Amino acid sequence: MELQTHYRACNLCEAICGLTVTHQNGTVVSISGDPADPFSRGHICPKAVALKDIYEDPNRLRRPLKRVETHGEVSWHEIGWEQAFDEVAHRLHQVRTQHGPNSIGVYAGNPTVHNSGSFLSMPGFVRSIGTRTMFSASSVDQFPHHFAAWQLFGHPLLMPVPDIDNTDFWIIMGGNPIASNGSIMTAPDVATRLRAIQQRGGRVVVIDPRHTETAKRADEHQFIRPGTDVFLLLAMTQVLFAENLVNVGRLADVTDGIDTLREAVMPFSPETVATVTGVSASDIRRLTRELANTPRAALYGRVGVSTQEFGGLCLWLVNVLNLLTGHLDEPGGMLFTSPAIDALAARPGVPKSAYNKYNRFQSRVSGKPEFMGEIPVACLAEEAETPGPGQLRALVTSCGNPVLSTPNGRRVDEALAGLEFMVSVDIYLNETTRHADYILPPLTGLETANYDLTFHVLAIRNTARYSEPMVPKPEGAMYDWEIFENLRLRLSGTPREEWNLQNPAKTIDQGLRFGPYGQTGLSLDHLLANPHGIDLGPLRSQLPGRLQTPDHRINAAPALFLADLARAQTALGQQVIAETIAPDQPASTQLLLISRRHLRDNNSWMHNARVLVKGRNRCTLLIHPDDAARFGVTTGQPVRVRSRVGEIEIPADVSTEIMPGVVCMPHGYGHNRPGTRQDIAQQHAGASINDLTDEAFSDTLTGNAALNGVPVWVEGVV
Ligand code: SF4
Repeated sequence: MELQTHYRACNLCEAICGLTVTHQNGTVVSISGDPADPFSRGHICPKAVALKDIYEDPNRLRRPLKRVETHGEVSWHEIGWEQAFDEVAHRLHQVRTQHGPNSIGVYAGNPTVHNSGSFLSMPGFVRSIGTRTMFSASSVDQFPHHFAAWQLFGHPLLMPVPDIDNTDFWIIMGGNPIASNGSIMTAPDVATRLRAIQQRGGRVVVIDPRHTETAKRADEHQFIRPGTDVFLLLAMTQVLFAENLVNVGRLADVTDGIDTLREAVMPFSPETVATVTGVSASDIRRLTRELANTPRAALYGRVGVSTQEFGGLCLWLVNVLNLLTGHLDEPGGMLFTSPAIDALAARPGVPKSAYNKYNRFQSRVSGKPEFMGEIPVACLAEEAETPGPGQLRALVTSCGNPVLSTPNGRRVDEALAGLEFMVSVDIYLNETTRHADYILPPLTGLETANYDLTFHVLAIRNTARYSEPMVPKPEGAMYDWEIFENLRLRLSGTPREEWNLQNPAKTIDQGLRFGPYGQTGLSLDHLLANPHGIDLGPLRSQLPGRLQTPDHRINAAPALFLADLARAQTALGQQVIAETIAPDQPASTQLLLISRRHLRDNNSWMHNARVLVKGRNRCTLLIHPDDAARFGVTTGQPVRVRSRVGEIEIPADVSTEIMPGVVCMPHGYGHNRPGTRQDIAQQHAGASINDLTDEAFSDTLTGNAALNGVPVWVEGVV
């Protein structure tokens, strides 16, 4: 067969870069950037090339596996799809009958949201079980972003993104878009866009406990002590009021709560927070004035401010600072998108019942609040371990690896081993799926159709692109939506003769036709005829029309946030953050742990691609020279690091890149558990940061795990 060319969007991270893939007889020959993609303009990162590795990976599962245990020995047997569907549905049905629907949990991993097939078919499957025990990677990541968007703008998906192509001043807190390629901000080729800000005379400031890859390209970097961003943000808000810099502008007519907010932040002067944050009072004032006085400016906070003890307050204040300085919903500031498939478009006059997304029920054991229909995944282990009505007895995982990606992974590991039943929809036998009774492997990446439902909603430019599968469906393979649909039909008791699998392509077509661009002829056929994607124009101001709050107004001081301020006030009064969870360890020996991401890492699941893991070991512990001297550690030496919940061994990397008192390691490693089938990942096992993170350490408001600012101590060289 001749060399063929295939165009698609990369589904590995949020940047959704356009790819040009050449292939012959089912073999990938090359992967490069698609210069005709109107959004990514030919940009790709090294991870895109690894799509070939995943496609060809001999460790990848291609048929359903059934676990068989004989005299304590586990073996895995390939079985047919019909047998797998029937047996899985039967076992789930048994658990549901015996223990009730809520005894079956569902965990949706991060790749679920990068795949419209699983994203659209999972909800129907979950409804067919009837469970409300839903977990996802969102509660170890961006719950606070959704929470703030819901409280301020009326819907968890109504999150503004920085208009970086037009801004002149960009403050980035707890984000490293040069490595992550942007997050809650779909922006391919951040490096070029960041350089363009500087070339037009603008400035970029990074505030982070590490001198990150983004900080190295910025105009200014400020170290900040992990977990204290809330105090910096409160002080910045206080400065706005104290110096009469508040100028809400066009949105003043629809904004309430300004006076209440002024009163709430008054105690947090820059002087009161300087010591605990590590940012001087004069720098806090200077940055606040620059934010207020630059006509086109944006303050952006990401995972470092989200996954911490005060994540909800942080994201509220990030939005409030943009609002008070007149940068919300303005070009060059923070703008809302107009996606081609718009989940919010058909919601005029939102009823109050639809507005309520929080605390409608609580987790069974520790009483954590539900948010968006989910229980924080930090509760998963206790829900499985603790006897009583509603105990978690069975689990369904969709392309996630909570053993490596959720707090206290060792405890999660043991809890999964004790379940009555588990099924995983996944392409690998990994640290989590090794506990499953069945693994159902879907087609993935290049082989699937995809429309980025979520990432077009967060993109800094309105575009639309549909990717077809590169190759016809291989004999005996299943798309993820077919897996969920087959299970749904069995669990819902639909008579076999009435089975009708819902193809997500139809939903996507309807979403396009009835979306904001439907009248211009946008449809699935239109996108199929334009395989490089189409440009729908720059973001534009949309408030107040797009507000989803019941009164179509913005309350800058919602009661939930004001109530949570007391917690921050107490912590500030004691000048201690996080240390209360390790009270027995002398403060002098404690360090605060943060995570980091490398351009070649993608959470836990791409370490089996040799092209991404080759070279120098990246799973190291960054430690400042002063701390290294204190503990007698030099670069390359393996050290033992402990936290309240566990310990790891990891080579030290002594560097001034990290601030004193803080240590940093990547997340997603720890591939040394037995019984997995990922040969390359095992050779680059590293240590799991989540063997140190603590399920008891969370943002009590949103339920999001606090994965940054975790107290640890180094116990010397191994
Ligand atoms: S930046 Fe993200 S979307 Fe773009 S090529 Fe890399 S992994 Fe793929």
